Amino acid sequence: MKSKVLILGAGFGGLELATLLSEALDKDADVTIIDKNDRFTFGYSRIDVMFGKTTLDTVCLPYDTFGKPGIRLVRETISYIDADARRVTTNGGVYEADYLVIALGADYDMGATPGLAEHGNEFYSNAGADRLRGVLPDFTGGSVIVGICGFPYKCPPGPSECALTLHHYLTEQGIRDKCDITFVSPLSTPMPASAEMAQALMDSFEEFNIRLLRQRTVVRLDEKHAVLDDGTELPFDLFLGVPKHTPPQVVIDSGLTEDGWVPIDLATLETRFPNVYAIGDIAATGLPKSGTFAESAARCVSTAILAKLERGDAERNTGTGTCIVEYGDGRVSYAELDFLTGASLKAVYHPPSIAGKTFKDGFDDTRRERWFNG
Ligand SMILES: Cc1cc2nc3c(=O)[nH]c(=O)nc-3n(C[C@H](O)[C@H](O)[C@H](O)COP(=O)(O)OP(=O)(O)OC[C@H]3O[C@@H](n4cnc5c(N)ncnc54)[C@H](O)[C@@H]3O)c2cc1C
Repeated sequence: MKSKVLILGAGFGGLELATLLSEALDKDADVTIIDKNDRFTFGYSRIDVMFGKTTLDTVCLPYDTFGKPGIRLVRETISYIDADARRVTTNGGVYEADYLVIALGADYDMGATPGLAEHGNEFYSNAGADRLRGVLPDFTGGSVIVGICGFPYKCPPGPSECALTLHHYLTEQGIRDKCDITFVSPLSTPMPASAEMAQALMDSFEEFNIRLLRQRTVVRLDEKHAVLDDGTELPFDLFLGVPKHTPPQVVIDSGLTEDGWVPIDLATLETRFPNVYAIGDIAATGLPKSGTFAESAARCVSTAILAKLERGDAERNTGTGTCIVEYGDGRVSYAELDFLTGASLKAVYHPPSIAGKTFKDGFDDTRRERWFNG
C-alpha cells in the first residue's frame, strides 16, 4: 500500500513540496493537499495591485490548473489538526496520513492594532491591496505613513518596496511635492540579513526624501494619528500598514503553537510529533518569513519523506532563500541568503538594476511553469 502524505496549505511551501514528491514518485505518490482558497497569489503581486499596475484577476493562479501525477488538491477549510494521530478534520471530511506537513502560512491580526481597520489600510492581503487600488487615485496629497504593526512579518523588504514604489507613484501623479512619506519599521535596518541591501535601501530613502523611523512599531491608530510603541504620535492623511501576523486560528486551536509559531527541529523541520512537519511562515524557524525559505524547507521535508520511503537520503534544512526588492522604477535588487549551511550567514547582494527585474520575472515564470504548467 502507498504511504499517504497530507499537506495542509497550497502556498509556496505546500506547492513546492507536492511538486517535488510528484517528480520523485510520479503515480506512486499518494499526496493530498488541502487549501481553503481557489487560487494562489505571489505575495509581491499585491504591491503591483495596490498601485494599479495590474489586477488581482491577472496575477492570481487558479488551483484548477495545478495537475500533477499522484497529487490531489482539494478545496476545503481545515478545522482541526490532531497531530498525535496525524488526523485532520475539514468542512468536507476527515483525512488520515502517514506523513503530515503543516504549511498554513501566517494570517493577519487586524484587532491587535486598534484603529487599523477603521482609520488605516493594510496592503498585505489580496483584499487590502485591491481596496487600495481604489483608494490611491483619490489621494491628493498630505502625510503618508508606511507602518509595520508587529514582528515577525512576511518578506522583510516588502514594506520598503511599498515606500519606494509609493514615492514613484506620487511623482507620476504629479503630487510628490505635496506629500511627505514616513516609514516606520520595528527592525534595526530595512534588511538586517544583508548590510549591503539595507544600506542601498537607506540611501534610496534619503535620495527620495522618505523619512525612516527604525526600531519603532505602530501600536494604535486614531482618525488622524499613528501611535508608536514609544508613545510618539505621527499625524497622517493616508496610512498603509502591515498588520501584526499570527498563525491561522486552526493551528492555535489545535494546540500546535508555542510562543506564537509551531516549534520544529530547525535541521529537519519535524515537529515534536513523529512524521509531522511544519514548513514556511507557520514554522518557528527564526528565519525570514518568505516564499523562497518555504521552498527550501519543502526541499528538506521532501527528502525526509522520500528517505523514509527508501528513496534516497534525507537532507538537512539549508535555510536558503532569495529576498527580492522592487524599487518601483523598473529596477530590482536581490540578496541570496544562506543561513544554515555554513558556520555563519552568507549573503550575496545584487544591487538594483534592470537586469534584476529580468531575474524577478524569471523567478515568477519558473514557479508558474513548475506549479501550474505555465
Ligand atoms: C507584500 C508581500 C510581498 C512579498 N514578497 C515576497 C518575495 O518577493 N519573495 C518571497 O519569497 N516571498 C515574498 N512574500 C512572502 C511570501 O508570500 C510568504 O512568505 C509565503 O507565501 C509563505 O509560504 P507558506 O507556504 O508558508 O504560506 P502561504 O503561501 O501563505 O500559504 C498558506 C496557505 O494555507 C492556506 N490556509 C490557511 N488556513 C487554512 C485553513 N484553515 N484551511 C485550509 N487552508 C488554509 C491559505 O489559503 C494559503 O494558501 C511576500 C509577501 C507579501 C505579503
